[in-house]
Amino acid sequence: MDIMVKYSSDCLNSDAERMRRMLKHINEVFSSKSGVITEEYKKEFEKTKTETNLERCKIMCKMLLGIDLALLVVDVLFKSIFTNKGNAVVNLYYGHIISLIFICLWLIVMKVNEKNNNHVRDNLMCYVIINIVIYWAVFMALNSLNLSGQISAYFMGILGVSICVYLTPLESYSILLTSFIIFICGLGLMVSENTILISHIINSFIVIIVSRIASRASYYNFLKNFMNKKTILESKNELEATNLRLREYEKLRTDFFANISHELRTPVNVIYSAEQMIDVNLKSENFEQEKLNKYLKMIKQNSYRLIRLINNLIDISKIDATVFEIKRVNCDIVSTVENITMSVSDYIENRNILLIFDTEVEEKVIACDPDKIERIVLNLLSNAIKFTPKDGEIFVKLYLKENQVCISVKDTGIGISEEMRELIFDRFIQVDKSISRSREGSGIGLSLVKSLVELHGGSVQVSSVLGQGSEFIFSLPDVLIEDTVKDNYFSNLSDQRVDRINIEFSDIYD
Ligand code: ADP
Repeated sequence: MDIMVKYSSDCLNSDAERMRRMLKHINEVFSSKSGVITEEYKKEFEKTKTETNLERCKIMCKMLLGIDLALLVVDVLFKSIFTNKGNAVVNLYYGHIISLIFICLWLIVMKVNEKNNNHVRDNLMCYVIINIVIYWAVFMALNSLNLSGQISAYFMGILGVSICVYLTPLESYSILLTSFIIFICGLGLMVSENTILISHIINSFIVIIVSRIASRASYYNFLKNFMNKKTILESKNELEATNLRLREYEKLRTDFFANISHELRTPVNVIYSAEQMIDVNLKSENFEQEKLNKYLKMIKQNSYRLIRLINNLIDISKIDATVFEIKRVNCDIVSTVENITMSVSDYIENRNILLIFDTEVEEKVIACDPDKIERIVLNLLSNAIKFTPKDGEIFVKLYLKENQVCISVKDTGIGISEEMRELIFDRFIQVDKSISRSREGSGIGLSLVKSLVELHGGSVQVSSVLGQGSEFIFSLPDVLIEDTVKDNYFSNLSDQRVDRINIEFSDIYD
């Protein structure tokens, strides 16, 4: 239960934190007055801007094409009416033809290169057409000055470009100012009367300022929209990831309860059935002591199984909650491991399994928690015994390697397949999980072994050949603490040791 509480609180804490960050981020983006492009999106923003501008330029071009054609028809039809007013119509006529040629050329180039996207080229093409539009407007305005004294074509041109196309501040300043200077020069050449000239200059300057404001507003609006979309997308992805993790936690929780219920129910069922059989046996006339002993043994063994399971659960929940403590003392690891190994020899006598202990060194004192070392070795030995058939062999070997003390528990048992080797240290992983499996277990043992070894600052590995056997090697750092040596730590604990072995070996049935 503790483990689940830990998982859930971990999950909730980290996800709540994530949500808080996400909301803050969204808030920041939505409340910011001027959009700010972050480094990671700079390239993408430039690309989107160019693509949108290009689309708009194409529309602008087509509109201009239509206007040009219409004006050409007007030029041809009404040439005689306007001829009296100087040579303005003739200029317009040629001007329209030239701009028609430019626009058609531009559209053809864009059509030809439609399929191969090139950001730099597309950007350049946008500038080209924007300039064509603006100088077309300048030309139109200067000409209509002769005809009607109006310069509104220039105003429409720069305002239209500023609103339709997204220009960075630098682009918009340079385009607007250059066109303004050229237009003023044109005006200077064409208008002789100073008051009219000054009024045209003031009007154009106001329109330039308005265009600049419009351009800025549309550019930052576009940038803000872009960033908003990105934030929403990021938040959506984060939400999806959180959702996925929550599902995983939920699955973990369900699996945990399913596993635990099964592991608890099995020994309880056995104990309950054995108690009923004892009851029947006691009540029956031909009472059999042998049967009674058998049922009592079943009760004892399954009680040990329950104790082992509960002990393991308490330990892994403590490890998860990082409150599990190891009490290190300086002790002789050689005699510790040898004692543990030898004390289980009685349990395997009737299985005809040969148990051999071997060491490279006579004595090696390191800082470790002997209780935990006992649990590690007993866990590995109980697995070795469980998965090794009769007449098999189990070797326990201790050797030194690069500032590490290595302890290997090797068996000639059924072995572990390659894909399972990576998983067996995870909780509740059992190679054979079927109800009809021949060996009992909860799938917690190796995950506990791994945690205990890691708490000592060591590591555990497995190598195995399916059908030939497995070797588990755990290594402990060769370090000492400031403490007196306790070399015969287990010598007075033989009764407790028997109990502990009974508990660790409770999954093994004769
Ligand atoms: P269990 O309580 O089921 O033994 P463990 O975590 O100790 O749980 O082991 C997980 C699984 O690893 C076992 O169910 C078994 O399939 C496999 N395993 C562990 N040790 C051995 C071994 N020595 N030989 C073959 N398989 C092993």
